[in-house]
Amino acid sequence: MPELPEVEAVRRRIEPFALGRTIVAAHVLRQRIARNGSVGQIEQFVTGRSITCVSRRAKNLLLHFDNAALRIHLRMTGDLLPCPNVRFFPIATRLILEFDKHEGILFTDPRALGRVELLDATGLEALDRSLGTEPLSPQFTPALLTSAARRSRLPAKLFLMNQAAIAGIGNIYAAEILFAARIDPARRMNSLSFACLERLHGAIQEILQAATRIAEVTYAAPGHFDEAAGFQLHVYGRVGERCLRCNRRIRRITQGARSTYHCPGCQH
Ligand SMILES: [Zn+2]
Repeated sequence: MPELPEVEAVRRRIEPFALGRTIVAAHVLRQRIARNGSVGQIEQFVTGRSITCVSRRAKNLLLHFDNAALRIHLRMTGDLLPCPNVRFFPIATRLILEFDKHEGILFTDPRALGRVELLDATGLEALDRSLGTEPLSPQFTPALLTSAARRSRLPAKLFLMNQAAIAGIGNIYAAEILFAARIDPARRMNSLSFACLERLHGAIQEILQAATRIAEVTYAAPGHFDEAAGFQLHVYGRVGERCLRCNRRIRRITQGARSTYHCPGCQH
C-alpha cells in the first residue's frame, strides 16, 4: 500500500500539470470508487471548476476547488497520471478529469479499491482533525514528538502507524525508521529517553524525505506501483537475512496483526 512518500510523489507529479486547470468534463467509469455520494454528484460538481491547489494530507490526495475538494485515496493499486489525450486511456482507468485540448488527469486502479469523495469545507476540517501531525511539516518538532510519546504506552511501531498521532507512515517505513533510529519496535513510547526520541525524530524525517525522492523517480511510469521500489530496505521483508549494520539475522514479529521486521542485535 502506498505510504506518505509514494502519495507525495504522485502529488508532485500531478501538481504542475493540474494546477489552475479547469475541468471541462468528468467521467467516473467505475461506480464503486465513489464514496459517500453518487457518481453523478461528483461529475456535476467538478465540471466547470478550476483546480486551485493540489495537496496531500497523510495518504490522501486532495484536488481543491475554492472551498471544496475531491479527496482521492489510492489504497492498494490506485495512481493518478497526467494524460496528453484522454480519448486514449488505459483499461484500468476509473476516473477521467478532462481539461481543454483533451488533456486531463486519469485515476487508474487495476483492483478498483481506491476511493474518490467530495468534501466540503466541513468535511475537509473533519479529515484534518482526524489525522495527526504531518511528519514533514514544520509543526513536527522533537518537542511535539516527545510530548506525544510521554502520553503513549503503545509499542514504538504501533505508535508510528497510528494515524491520529503522526499521519502517513505505514508498515514498511515504520520498520525502516525504527531500524535507522536503533529502536526496538516493541519498546513502549513512554519508556524512550529524550536522546532516543531525538534520534527517532531525525529518522522519521530522513527516511520519509529519502523515500519521497526515490518514489518521484520510480513512480514515473504509469502502472508501476511497487511501494518502496528502489528504496534500500534494511529490515522490511528481510527475515533471516543478515543485518547490514551488525550482521545478526533479521527477525519478524507480529504487532497489531501486521508483520514487523527488526534486528535484535542493534535495535534496543
Ligand atoms: Zn543489526
